[in-house]
Amino acid sequence: MFKVYNTLSRKKEAFRPRKDKKVNLFVCGPTTYDHSHIGHARTYIVFDMITKYLRQKGYDVFYLQNITDIDDKIIARAKEEKVFWETLSRKFEREYLKDMKALNINSVSKYAGATAHIKEIISQVKRLLRKSFAYQIEDGIYYDISKFKNYGMLSRRTVLQAEDAVSRIDEAKEKRNKGDFCLWKKSKPGEPKWRSPWFFGRPGWHIEDTAITEKYFGSQYDIHGGARDLIFPHHEAEIAQMEVISGKKPMVKYWLHTGFLTVKGQKMAKSLGNFITIKDFLKKHSARILRLFVLKTHYRSPIDYNEKEIEQVKKQLERIDEFVEKLNLSRSNLHILSRFDLQKFEKEFERVMEDNFNTPKAIAAIFELVNKGNSLIDKNKLTYNDAKNILEFLRKIDKVFNFIFWGKLKEKIPHELLNLVKQRQKYREQGNWQKADEIRGKIKQMGYWVEDTKEGPKIKKI
Ligand SMILES: [Zn+2]
Repeated sequence: MFKVYNTLSRKKEAFRPRKDKKVNLFVCGPTTYDHSHIGHARTYIVFDMITKYLRQKGYDVFYLQNITDIDDKIIARAKEEKVFWETLSRKFEREYLKDMKALNINSVSKYAGATAHIKEIISQVKRLLRKSFAYQIEDGIYYDISKFKNYGMLSRRTVLQAEDAVSRIDEAKEKRNKGDFCLWKKSKPGEPKWRSPWFFGRPGWHIEDTAITEKYFGSQYDIHGGARDLIFPHHEAEIAQMEVISGKKPMVKYWLHTGFLTVKGQKMAKSLGNFITIKDFLKKHSARILRLFVLKTHYRSPIDYNEKEIEQVKKQLERIDEFVEKLNLSRSNLHILSRFDLQKFEKEFERVMEDNFNTPKAIAAIFELVNKGNSLIDKNKLTYNDAKNILEFLRKIDKVFNFIFWGKLKEKIPHELLNLVKQRQKYREQGNWQKADEIRGKIKQMGYWVEDTKEGPKIKKI
């Protein structure tokens, strides 16, 4: 049975989407005021893996992510850098998308910016006011947490704690309760502002997510994901907003949260000088290293980043590469029954993945397969068919993990090269071998090798 751990119940539960195999998934996106770091990368690699696995299992996943493109931090940073807030926000949105592309995170169905959903946000604030769960004071409209009896159901608390990394509860003297959070903030002179029935202002942080999910999913959906430091107050606030607006509960069936990432045992912080952006990482290492590094730890457990661990991951990838190479070369066609029980590994892979996405065990199974396969290859006992089937299985796994056949996945083939390959193919079809060989030479000069296979020409980097 497919099980996932639900933060709401603190238990593993059978995974049954609300409607057949349709899965609506929402994950909190970035606030675009700076480059994303490897802690963010962890969360997004995990949900990319989860989405890809679910899709492989036949679930129809709509993966929605918001982009917080207006926020106090954006305004403050723009002021510091003396640029227009939107210029800064758009720039870091582009940088975020570039980072995601570099990490092969390509499973998101839709990115939804907060500023593109002001109408939906205002509509939610209006409904909360109408139901008397919100009130207006001098600097904005706030949510009255004392009115929502279940406030604290997800995090099991109602007040901020010292370790809350993202403590965006706005302070205001006239607030009714200390934990009341802002829904619509009055803009100060010179700040970005949108017209509303009350005053020119901008959205609070928590309301953008529920406005966006209500628009695309309706008032209830299957999975909400994010880093665990978002549980309070952010996700707690989302429940308080949406369940009051719709009168339906639960807003979300399964809450999935990723563990922290520390650097050499410490929390990442600019002041500590241990802040590693995705771009910093990619300057030194390949993206597949980050993917394996992240996935070899269970998504709920803490991870510590250190160079020793990265070296370890590199060695593991080298072992996989060597194995794949050997499989590709394995031509020993023994006329004996297959000795290789691939099904055992396939079953194990599925069993552990369906147990709350236990990727460390799945990866351990891959390495067991590498060991077993290697020893048979060394004894010249792996049949051609076994090698073919193992490769096929690895390719299937890699559609979810994306760290095995990375070279081929990542390689960008220049347009000019593709044209040459097409030309050469034409000459070959005409039987003009001399011209075809000339072009092969040109291709070689560009650093590529073209191989003619039954399915047509294949390009390889030399
Ligand atoms: Zn969020």
